Amino acid sequence: MPSPRRLLAAIKTVRVWVVLGVLAPLGMLLVSGFMLYELRREMWARTEDTSRNLLQVIETDIARNVEIMDLALQGVVAKIASPHLVDASEPLLQLVLFDRVVTADGMGILVLFDEHGTGLLNSRYPAGAGGSFADRDYFQVHQRDPEAGLYISKPYQSRMSGAYTVAFSRRITKPDGTFGGVAVATLKLSHFTQILSQIDLGRNGSINLIRQDGIRIMRYPYDVRDVGADVSGSSNFQRFLREGKGSFAEWANRDGVHRLFTFTQVGAFPLVLSIGISTEDVEAGWRARALMIGVTLLALFGLAVLLALLCGRELRRREAVEAELARLSMTDGLTGLPNRRRFDEALAAALDASSRSGRPVGLLIVDADHFKRFNDRYGHAVGDEVLRGLARCLSARIHRPYDLVCRIGGEEFGVILPGTDAEGAARVAERLHEEVTTLTVAAAGLNPGAVTVSIGLAEAVGGAPSELYRAADTALYAAKSAGRNRTCRAEARPAAPRLRLVARADAAS
Ligand code: GH3
Ligand code: MG
Ligand code: MG
Repeated sequence: MPSPRRLLAAIKTVRVWVVLGVLAPLGMLLVSGFMLYELRREMWARTEDTSRNLLQVIETDIARNVEIMDLALQGVVAKIASPHLVDASEPLLQLVLFDRVVTADGMGILVLFDEHGTGLLNSRYPAGAGGSFADRDYFQVHQRDPEAGLYISKPYQSRMSGAYTVAFSRRITKPDGTFGGVAVATLKLSHFTQILSQIDLGRNGSINLIRQDGIRIMRYPYDVRDVGADVSGSSNFQRFLREGKGSFAEWANRDGVHRLFTFTQVGAFPLVLSIGISTEDVEAGWRARALMIGVTLLALFGLAVLLALLCGRELRRREAVEAELARLSMTDGLTGLPNRRRFDEALAAALDASSRSGRPVGLLIVDADHFKRFNDRYGHAVGDEVLRGLARCLSARIHRPYDLVCRIGGEEFGVILPGTDAEGAARVAERLHEEVTTLTVAAAGLNPGAVTVSIGLAEAVGGAPSELYRAADTALYAAKSAGRNRTCRAEARPAAPRLRLVARADAAS
């Protein structure tokens, strides 16, 4: 498991911030999307409820109307058989037989037909008006089938009033059981449309009243072409029949509008009532809101992501600048070598590691001989050039990855050699002398051998950096005193160094 410190360090990286900066708004976007989805679901649930309630109200109203019609018809059929009315006059029969509710204005009329389809008695028109009605479906159904009960006709245009009408009828049976005619109560379709016109179903809503055999009695909004149309082949109608009661969303067969259909059978009658609310109408409000919220959220999301990315870029730029600054703060401007500060850190770290490993650290302090003279004779610029040349020479002969050459003062360099004892360091020092011998500065006409260095060498296993440094510095002083262009080595104990000259082949020259 990663340690908490490492975890913290990982979290602090720019990449993590950028990823969080993108993920957080993405999360908000997802939550908002889910909320919009929920809003839509609730809206649909509400619409379904409303639709169901509306359907219930209309269904109850139509069922009650039909029941009233049927009761009136049953009354007529029962009374006409009464022996008391055999010789009754027409006005008396009208009074006794015809229910005021059913014959109220705007509803329709009650008619009695004889077995030939001729009108015997009529609640509005004179008897016999309109000729024979034997061609009407209701007449033929009752003539054919004594058990037809209450029959609801196909809608038709009234011969008398011209109004589109639906007829409710019952058979009249003679005392001997033979067909004696039909009692009919008619209802104008306008009666339904009046009721339905008060209901707001949106722009593309629809209401259908259809017989169970698929003959449409009417559709709202009213269109005369819908009256009596056969919709038995429509898949939606078949589903109404199959399921009896319920709701589903589907494309309308009639006009291709997508609607939420809620449907039921009307009472116990062979009628199906359906309400269709256009999906478009239901969702229009939601869509406008969703679009507004969605666009705003997307814009905010884009902005947040952009900001996160810009922030990430800025953070990365800053990191790079900081790293460069850190590097510069550790680098000597003239030679490009690590500077004194870096030298101090590296020496302390090397001695620290040495105290744990028990392996020695070698240290060389390299100082240009009579450097002041170069400055004095050729000017400061040449002095600088010599310093850069020296830096190149020293770096050229230091190869191991943990060895470090630094410029630690004016014309003074430090070479840290971790894991190297005094003998190894002496060999390195020798190589440095050799390399410096090759140094030329063309601008000042300095030939090889013109520049020399003196080197102080010390070695320690652990201990304080200042002690090792002092030992090497003392050794350097000794090298200067002994005539320069040589390496002097501090004796074993840096705290109380005894000095010994390292023999150099060309030292005498
Ligand atoms: P020694 O052999 O005893 O070391 O004699 P030296 O002249 O090298 O020593 P000293 O300490 O007397 O003089 C060092 C000179 O180095 C003094 C200073 O002007 C020069 N110096 C220090 N830093 C720079 C630098 O960055 N550029 C140049 N051109 N000269 C520098
Ligand atoms: Mg010097
Ligand atoms: Mg010096």
